[in-house]
Amino acid sequence: MNDQPMNSQGFNRRNFLKVGATGATGLALGGLGALSAVADEAKPAPLKLPRRRYGRTGLEISTLVGATDWSADVIPLAVEAGVNYWHKAHRWTAATMPDAIKSQPREAYHLEVVVDRVGGDNKTGHIDEEQHYQFVKNAVARSGVGYYDVFKFHFGYHSVAEARTNLGVIRAYDRLKKEGLVKHLAISQHHYKDINGDMAFDIVAYLMDHSPFEAAQFFYTYGDRKEISDVIALAKAKDFGVIAMKTMGGVGRAATDKKMQTLLAEPKYAGSSPGAAMVKWLMANPSLTAAVIATKNFDQLQENFKAAQEHTLGRNDQETLKLLAGFNQGMTCLLCADCVSHCPEHIAIADILRYERYALDYHELSRAKAEYKTLTKDGSACIACGDCIPACRADINIVAKLKEVHNLLG
Ligand code: SF4
Ligand code: SF4
Repeated sequence: MNDQPMNSQGFNRRNFLKVGATGATGLALGGLGALSAVADEAKPAPLKLPRRRYGRTGLEISTLVGATDWSADVIPLAVEAGVNYWHKAHRWTAATMPDAIKSQPREAYHLEVVVDRVGGDNKTGHIDEEQHYQFVKNAVARSGVGYYDVFKFHFGYHSVAEARTNLGVIRAYDRLKKEGLVKHLAISQHHYKDINGDMAFDIVAYLMDHSPFEAAQFFYTYGDRKEISDVIALAKAKDFGVIAMKTMGGVGRAATDKKMQTLLAEPKYAGSSPGAAMVKWLMANPSLTAAVIATKNFDQLQENFKAAQEHTLGRNDQETLKLLAGFNQGMTCLLCADCVSHCPEHIAIADILRYERYALDYHELSRAKAEYKTLTKDGSACIACGDCIPACRADINIVAKLKEVHNLLG
């Protein structure tokens, strides 16, 4: 007897990988016994995530990348479905790294070490060659993995000028590479207009032509500004890898909103969901290498993987994305940072609304509160001048929103 728990759609964990390829056919037969019979007798091709070249690194990585904060029961399934790239892998020690990953030959999976600015947060931290070098060296020793495939400079440069003149990260990488402890160089780039810096797309475009960086990761979601899709296309033309992050704006909120759920039950959205439609929309962009998507449980894993495997937007998915965009309008920040340079108080509006995302879309309230606490100026510093509001492409009443978020996280 199969005693593995089933999710809301009637799948169980053992059948997840096999049923993915047969989709609704297996489900239509109804019940666990029928599913097992389909899986065991017909032996359908297993669900396997597509892989794409991660730019100049030359690595072929799964279009959905895994992360260390995925739950322990989800990781073995993800490995079996083909996830071979692990974001923030330095958080695993030799004792905590999942067997499902480390039992494979070392060359079968790719691990990322994420190197932060030091001595502060993304805005106040600085670049320090020796500290970056020691951080990676210690992580390699602690994890016993031998080497990290990708050294990822987290938060990135504040400006093009800093990228041009401060070579501490690159020197740390070069030393580690000579010692065989890292193999490739990538960046996770944020926007810094609010501290008189540059936007992520300007910095990444500069790095493509003027640095040893081989790939980048940055914010990208449906309805985002055109400059982001332009830089993704440019990256493809220049063989520079791109991983999208913070992709699921409004998806978590939609899942708990009764009105949205009623609307989504209409026939034109049948077979789609905001999460699946977003994954398909991302995957339909051939210039994008992969996306990192928060995955809390088996249901989400299954929905995301199936969507990534199908990667073609149906009419139902397009309708769902339109509905989600309407739902988000006036409510969910796109993290575009258009507003930040208009604020006389230099409030990090986009960062504050990113923390709101953690709370409302990923349901990670304590993480959101902890991040909110680190701000030098939080939402309560808003003087309600309204200067930022005309700049918002999402029509958010930023004054009211900052108050709401402060009540939630402050
Ligand atoms: S309304 Fe608040 S957040 Fe917007 S520009 Fe004025 S002070 Fe800054
Ligand atoms: S509040 Fe509006 S303008 Fe500011 S980052 Fe969010 S979506 Fe962009």
